[in-house]
Amino acid sequence: MTAPRLEIALGRIEHNTRTLVDRLAPVGIRVTGVTKAALGSPGVGAAMLRGGAHGLGDSRVPNLARLAGLDGATSRTLIRSPMLSQVDDVVSLATCSLNTEPAVLLALDAAAARAGRLHDVVLMVELGDLREGIPVDDVAEVVRGVLALPSLRLLGLGANLACQNGVVPDEQNMGVLSELVDTVETKYGVALTTVTGGNSANLDWAASAANVGRINDLRLGEAILLGVEPLHRTPIRGLHADAFTLFGEVIERRDKPRQPWGTRGQSAFGDLPDRVGAGTVRQALVALGRQDADPDDVVPPAGITILGMSSDHLVLDLGDHRVEVGDEIAFGVGYSALVRAMTSPFVTAVERQGC
Ligand SMILES: *Cc1c(COP(=O)(O)O)cnc(C)c1O
Repeated sequence: MTAPRLEIALGRIEHNTRTLVDRLAPVGIRVTGVTKAALGSPGVGAAMLRGGAHGLGDSRVPNLARLAGLDGATSRTLIRSPMLSQVDDVVSLATCSLNTEPAVLLALDAAAARAGRLHDVVLMVELGDLREGIPVDDVAEVVRGVLALPSLRLLGLGANLACQNGVVPDEQNMGVLSELVDTVETKYGVALTTVTGGNSANLDWAASAANVGRINDLRLGEAILLGVEPLHRTPIRGLHADAFTLFGEVIERRDKPRQPWGTRGQSAFGDLPDRVGAGTVRQALVALGRQDADPDDVVPPAGITILGMSSDHLVLDLGDHRVEVGDEIAFGVGYSALVRAMTSPFVTAVERQGC
């Protein structure tokens, strides 16, 4: 088997999706499965759909192109506001896009007209996290603009919290979104069928809210893929946290002094690992570096400690583990290690059906 290698247990992703879909259904919320951290893998997208996801979402147009082969009828949402330079690709590869800019909406309308199709849009509302979003007071005006564009269909409104400034979705900010939906419907006599309240950080709110109001969709990536909620990175009950496993191969195995010698300046990436204590370390080098994964977010087996990671080498204190050159070591991944591994050309992704 080649290393480094990221093994993906598709059955666990399907299970995680189904569990979340079943938990949200009673309050009238459906799940859009977000594949961006898995590079738009069609295998991962198919597992989410088998688990009951209502559609798929991704932030990158090339990823949507990978998903487009899955099933022509699946809704595919571009969850990042389109670049003006890519509107033609957006209308051909995404069935829907999340938007905030009138200039982009105009260009999407023109592109959809050129392609002879209708393109669905959701307008994103700024609720305080200060990434994407139209200020609440300006939403009605942007809606009016969209309703005048013949090749766009306004599906509804949405919001995204917790990504830029960690703002927590709660009854207050979700209430603002729900109220805005009612206001827009009344003002323009339209029905907004999609109200997409947020991402995995919305799960606590959805589980505890007395009333989820008009919100009927969540866009879930991390919770499905890694089984954690992103606000405190606590495991979600009943979900698999190990759908992804990163394997690296040992290329050197020697006992080494715990303390380096010689005058010390900076290390390759600026940080200086403090090697406390004396004596020797049962050290292993793994052919896995920052070009493959994020050192702060790979989780070694219990009893093994990470001493450092440079571009191409991971340095481990093996503790009591018996390891030889050529052995593979299996690591868990957090969100940033997952994203890095999936996007690294050096890491082979291997998808397994089943658990
Ligand atoms: C990444 C992203 C999501 C999914 O976020 P998770 O925390 O992975 O669930 C949803 N919506 C938008 C706009 C995103 O950028």
